[in-house]
Amino acid sequence: MQSDSFKKIISHAKEYGFIFPSSEIYEGLSAVYDYGQNGVALKNNIREYWWKSMVQLHENIVGLDAAIFMHPTTWKASGHVDAFNDPLIDNKDSKKRYRADVLIEDYVAKIEAKISKEVFKASKRFGESFNKEQFLSTDQRVAALQSKANNILKRMAKSLENEDLADVKALIEDLEIACPESGSRNWTDVKQFNLMFGTKLGASADTAMNLFLRPETAQGIFVNFLNVQKSGRMRLPFGIAQTGKAFRNEIVARQFIFRMREFEQMEMQFFIPPGTQKEWYEYWKEKRLKWHYNLGLGVDNYRFHDHEKLAHYADAATDIEFQFPFGFKELEGIHSRTNFDLSNHEKYARKKLQYFDPVKNENYVPYVVETSIGLDRMFLAIFSKALTEETIQDGSKRTLLKIPPVLAPTKLAIFPLVKKDGLPEIAKRIVKDLKWDFTIAYDEKDAVGRRYRRQDALGTPYCVTIDHQTLEDETITIRDRDSMTQDRVPIKSLTRFLQTKLSLSELLKKL
Ligand code: ATP
Repeated sequence: MQSDSFKKIISHAKEYGFIFPSSEIYEGLSAVYDYGQNGVALKNNIREYWWKSMVQLHENIVGLDAAIFMHPTTWKASGHVDAFNDPLIDNKDSKKRYRADVLIEDYVAKIEAKISKEVFKASKRFGESFNKEQFLSTDQRVAALQSKANNILKRMAKSLENEDLADVKALIEDLEIACPESGSRNWTDVKQFNLMFGTKLGASADTAMNLFLRPETAQGIFVNFLNVQKSGRMRLPFGIAQTGKAFRNEIVARQFIFRMREFEQMEMQFFIPPGTQKEWYEYWKEKRLKWHYNLGLGVDNYRFHDHEKLAHYADAATDIEFQFPFGFKELEGIHSRTNFDLSNHEKYARKKLQYFDPVKNENYVPYVVETSIGLDRMFLAIFSKALTEETIQDGSKRTLLKIPPVLAPTKLAIFPLVKKDGLPEIAKRIVKDLKWDFTIAYDEKDAVGRRYRRQDALGTPYCVTIDHQTLEDETITIRDRDSMTQDRVPIKSLTRFLQTKLSLSELLKKL
């Protein structure tokens, strides 16, 4: 079930040209979405922030744009053919399909919510003298809840690791988990379901080759490791960054752009000497968290969640979770992938994928630490925190999108106060001067108050109004989206003002 605030986010995204359901005139396609005129601009700006922070700011990280189609053996070597599965379970009464692990995790999340409530109540009771750590370790009720949650997660991790799907079902039954839709506990057995989409390459049915649409961009980087290393004369440690589409036939996809069947990833594989993975893993955890904090969405909205159950390729893994409208969920993954991928490609391709280390004077298969973030999830994180409704001084309500100014789709809106007296001409002249550096909207329709509201809802950080005083002294008013304050400044100071407020380089310098 979607909460009212989440429904508002989805409808605002559609009404203001950010996100539309795919092929909507044909009733849409489940968990596939199109980005509209404002959505594409915001998405491009997020991608640019990521790309520049990775590639431009690191001498030893370079970019790549690999094809979506890859030789099918790639997916055998990567483990996706055999292990890229989710455990699914159906409710026989509602006929709804669920991920068995998610049903269990949601159950645990409810226990955690109970713990948070107890902590909150105790903090009220003890006031100033409240010590959270002490409370967590000494309160018996909380300790019992925590140990219950831990035991459930441990049992689930063990059963999934051992492919013991009967026990996953038994756990669901033991916990008396009911279908959120029908309330029934009438479950099928748990089955594994491979998430890759298949397709065919070639003209005739008998010679066609079975392919997969890539379920992650990372493998395009691994298979090009030597190409990039040799052509770029790269020395370890170095990274390869890539953004692009990935496809997964998700079992449950009911959370708007959080879980899509076609989505975009921004991934960076950092190649390192074996034995240094712990230190680089910590390094990238910290770096990536800083990248998120830097946007100013509030540090309390992020937390690390270390994996109990490690993927087939990892020796350590954590998620950066974000507080989405439906709770803390994974936004980005940081994985220490060992030399699993490169070694397996060596085996399957029967080609050496090794690096000659001039310092150690030896050849080896590098280890890898990767950072992997979903662009669409990042979009949702920003959009959901940005959408705000507030009551202003005159008692009326306004809806605004507090998108970080640097990322806003339109940076500046320019309004002539009235459509006469030469004001539109001045406004258009300003647009002409500034359009080289900023995306600008020009609007002369309706009362100026309504034009402000329109831009607030689109997230435009500044609006400039040209009035009759402009004719006299070449000054304009500039209005700030968040504070709604208006300052009168000379036209000629505008470029400088905007450059300081809207500069991506300034944001990058804070990293
Ligand atoms: P989840 O546990 O939510 O299914 P995952 O652990 O399978 O995600 P990864 O394989 O680590 O995800 O992918 C890296 C990133 O790609 C995720 O952190 C997420 O931001 C994004 N991502 C993964 N699957 C989807 C999807 N179906 N739709 C949108 N973004 C996705």
